[in-house]
Amino acid sequence: MSVNGTLMNYYFHCKRQCYLHGNRLNLEDNSEQVKIGKVIHEEKAADGKNTELAIDNIRLDKLTKEYLTEIKKSDADVEAARWQLLYYLKVLKTKGVIRKGRLEFVEKNKTDKKIVYVELTEDNERQLEAYIKEIEELIHQEKVPECLNKSKCKKCAYYEYCYI
Ligand code: SF4
Repeated sequence: MSVNGTLMNYYFHCKRQCYLHGNRLNLEDNSEQVKIGKVIHEEKAADGKNTELAIDNIRLDKLTKEYLTEIKKSDADVEAARWQLLYYLKVLKTKGVIRKGRLEFVEKNKTDKKIVYVELTEDNERQLEAYIKEIEELIHQEKVPECLNKSKCKKCAYYEYCYI
C-alpha cells in the first residue's frame, strides 16, 4: 500500500496501527474514494465550474476556495490530525490546488467546537517527505511493532486484534 493520509495519521497515533493498516489488515471503514467523489462533486456544484481534479490516495471532508477542512470526532490526537491534513494539502498542491487547512474537532455532547488552522510551509513539506519515507520503511519491515499498552488502545479499531 502506498502512503496516504490515513497512514500518516496512524503513524502519529500508533506505529503498530500504521503497520497493520499499511499491510492491509483493514478493520475500519475505508471509503476514501467515495468521499473524494462527493467532495469534488460539491466543489464543482459550488463553483459552477467543471474543473476536473484527479486526486489519488486522498480523503477530503470539505474543500472551499480558501480551506481544506477535516472534521474530527475528537481532539485526542491533534498532532496526528495536523500531519494528516498537511499531507492532504501537499497532495492537493501537486495537483495545482493551493489551500490552507482547517481542522474542526466536533465532540459529542459539546456545543462548542475546537478549530485549528494549518498551513503548508517549506519546512513542513520537507518534514512530510521525511515522514513518508519513514512510513514506507515501517510498513515494509518484517516485524510488527509492539502493542502500545496505553489508554488510547481502548478506543482503537484494532483493540481486539491487539489484546484479545
Ligand atoms: S490497540 Fe493500541 S497498540 Fe493496537 S493498534 Fe491500536 S493503538 Fe496501537
